[in-house]
Amino acid sequence: MDVTVGKILFTEEQIRERAKALAKKINEDYKGESVYLVGTLRGALVWMADLMKELELNTEIDFIVASSYQGTDTTGVVTIKKDIEGDVSGKNVIIVEDIVDTGTTLFKLLDYFKGRGAKSVEICSMLNKPSRRRAPVSPKYNGFEIDDLFVIGYGLDYNQKFRNLPYVGVAELR
Ligand code: 5GP
Repeated sequence: MDVTVGKILFTEEQIRERAKALAKKINEDYKGESVYLVGTLRGALVWMADLMKELELNTEIDFIVASSYQGTDTTGVVTIKKDIEGDVSGKNVIIVEDIVDTGTTLFKLLDYFKGRGAKSVEICSMLNKPSRRRAPVSPKYNGFEIDDLFVIGYGLDYNQKFRNLPYVGVAELR
């Protein structure tokens, strides 16, 4: 199957503006505290870079690779393929995600970090597809809501390609 980029939904400028606005909220919400950003590889890379540059807090960064398999139960099965390297106990974890779709992955990750003694755990997602939700997850910090479309670019892939596009566009399959 051939894939091309269809409609551009969000330009680099729009995304960076949202990252800036959300970072401002995070700066206010965590004033006087430190944050521990955990980016979900590989998709959140570009969004995380935009966000972290706008933070004025003591900030640590780490990465996790989790994959979800949607079984018959509503929350699915999540495997951690690469764990974080630091210790999150007593820390304010913010999971930085590219897109929340069914919510399966994040539902498990929220639990995972709480179980490891994090002081707080929130989500900062670039995109959100609420119509697809299966697990009860709603990001406190969210860039844009989109309809049920498959999108690529700005970190998001189709078969590992298109992550380098400097915008988010709709994937057109032919
Ligand atoms: P969830 O566990 O919320 O169903 O899955 C979230 C993950 O699915 C995202 O981190 C992303 O890797 C992938 N995903 C969901 N929707 C899209 C999409 O529209 N485009 C791309 N490229 N990946 C998506």
